[in-house]
Amino acid sequence: MERAHPRGEESHAGVAVIREATLIAGDGIGPEITQVTLQVLDALGVGFDWDEQFGGMSAVEQAGTPLPDSTVDSIRRTGLALKGPLTTPVGDGYRSVNVALRQEFELYANVRPVKSIVPGGRYTDVDLVIIRENTEGMYVGFDRTFKVGNDPKALDRRKVTVVHKANILKATSGLFLETARMIAQEYEGQIASDEKIVDNAAMQLVINPAQFDVIVTTNLFGDILSDEASGLVGGLGLAPGANIGEHAAIFEAVHGSAPDIAGQGIANPSAQLLAAAMMLDHVGELAAANRLRRALETAIVKDNVRTKDLGGSASTTEFARAVARRL
Ligand code: NAD
Repeated sequence: MERAHPRGEESHAGVAVIREATLIAGDGIGPEITQVTLQVLDALGVGFDWDEQFGGMSAVEQAGTPLPDSTVDSIRRTGLALKGPLTTPVGDGYRSVNVALRQEFELYANVRPVKSIVPGGRYTDVDLVIIRENTEGMYVGFDRTFKVGNDPKALDRRKVTVVHKANILKATSGLFLETARMIAQEYEGQIASDEKIVDNAAMQLVINPAQFDVIVTTNLFGDILSDEASGLVGGLGLAPGANIGEHAAIFEAVHGSAPDIAGQGIANPSAQLLAAAMMLDHVGELAAANRLRRALETAIVKDNVRTKDLGGSASTTEFARAVARRL
């Protein structure tokens, strides 16, 4: 099978390779934002030994199926992947490869941080994480989601807000809330907790997002609230996500393949860069991850280099170069 080479063929001397990881460049703007992400990782001086695979529309074109066995086998072997967005046909056509991957590897927690970076926006003090149950519908307890060792302390998080609809969906959202209360008791004195009904939570997010620290919620609510939250800080171009399971983790931008701007070289690669930073966190490279995040923030805030979605005129490549210069 012919491979896409977002990395290019050149050698990258001086890059400390941490471990093998699967790379899926994805569809639409995926290859553009993935290519510059790899260049920034090279500039950072830490990297992964990438096993490049296909998924989504590009996999249909290359291998006749949206999720080739070789892609699944690769992630099973590496347990770690960086993924570009994958196109899912609306209505007819194949089912979502993203959902299939989450199911296949039991990636039960979708971790989506949202943070104010761009000055002059509506809010400058948003710094929250939405944790969305990732593999089931309403019929799920989420106790596994909390079993993340000392992560809440490592990330300096203090409060969990459980978002539910247990007033109406008594059996399903009710079970979720009951379980959340049980787990909250286990962490009493360490992590504060409160609860909000989803419609109120959606409104409160707009009125006063700074009141939230970590939101834990079910699959569909988390999907909607995380897009809403990204809108508070400048849009989808800045929102990374991690799909975490016991045996594998897949890092990606929250946004999709953006067919309306694909191929124009104007996509904002920040979400994919921040997803790569989360991947570095995941493998214990905290200093490198923080360096990457700081460089990205400095490029936006101090150097005022911004892509079109953030009101600037920088291309994808120009923005990535600005980040690399700040490393
Ligand atoms: P989308 O996120 O692709 O685009 C929504 C809007 O945001 C568009 O106007 C787009 O131009 C803009 N946008 C998104 N990312 C951007 C970036 N990095 N820089 C600048 N602007 C950006 O959502 P959609 O149009 O609803 O979906 C397109 C396709 O992506 C669909 O096939 C959908 O199924 C798929 N999708 C995939 C994922 C994933 O792989 N995780 C997530 C969401 C949607």
